[in-house]
Amino acid sequence: MARTRPDYRPRTPHCCDCGRQLEVTRDQGTIAAGAAILPEFPGAVCEDCLVLIEGMAVTDFKAEAAVHFIHATNFEVKTPVAVQNYLDLYGWEPVVVGACAVRLHADGKPSDAFTLLKNARAEGPAGYYDVERAALLLIDGETGQAHDLLTATTTKDHPRWHHWNGVLAHSVGRTDAAVEHWRLQVAGHPDDFESWLPLSFHLMQELEDFPAAEQYFRGAVARHPKHQEFRAWLGDAILRQGRRDEALVELKAALELEAVDEKFAAGIDELIAKLEAGED
Ligand SMILES: [Zn+2]
Repeated sequence: MARTRPDYRPRTPHCCDCGRQLEVTRDQGTIAAGAAILPEFPGAVCEDCLVLIEGMAVTDFKAEAAVHFIHATNFEVKTPVAVQNYLDLYGWEPVVVGACAVRLHADGKPSDAFTLLKNARAEGPAGYYDVERAALLLIDGETGQAHDLLTATTTKDHPRWHHWNGVLAHSVGRTDAAVEHWRLQVAGHPDDFESWLPLSFHLMQELEDFPAAEQYFRGAVARHPKHQEFRAWLGDAILRQGRRDEALVELKAALELEAVDEKFAAGIDELIAKLEAGED
């Protein structure tokens, strides 16, 4: 089952059980491979092996779903192998490659992450991968190199260009410029929930400007009504202005939503209990 080491270039996928070569179809980010894709292993299986599979198996798999799994799954194989398998399935699909690089970087394989981005950049779009590289460099505190990459690209190259320019500006103490970039990020891509995150943090944690945060989270909740964290933070922003009953309504509504993070959900539950017991 174990083939060669990952080389971070897409290869022909094989059944992850018997090793037989698999057919892949890719249509605008949605793929099908063999009889089914196993997002959590990850890999794909042939018709004969499908009956042996116990975990999750899907037939049509969208790139956005793959990104979610790449970020959040505790894979059965090591991260470099998992990333290689996703590349084999998706080819040079930018959002999938970007997520793979972030995962490698987060799992302590930064040089693998940069190798992947370098290989992908040669296939293009170069500007997209330059912004992805800048994002990883910012996490590493390499603001100079990140600055050069972001200056050489534009908002047309990457949907999160303003997001990362804001992070860069913030990290060098240019707060006003950061806020401006983050506002443009939200204005340009309100449907991407991550667009909303940096200003949320800035208003709540840094400025502690709770009226402004409340207004901001109302906007976030309107756009992302099922996002538990935005709803809970709205409750928190209201609570910090002393409107306990109103805050409780929002916190309880948040608890009804699907939890992305179990710890976070437990925290909401705890806060509600505390408020109802009159401790706050
Ligand atoms: Zn097989």
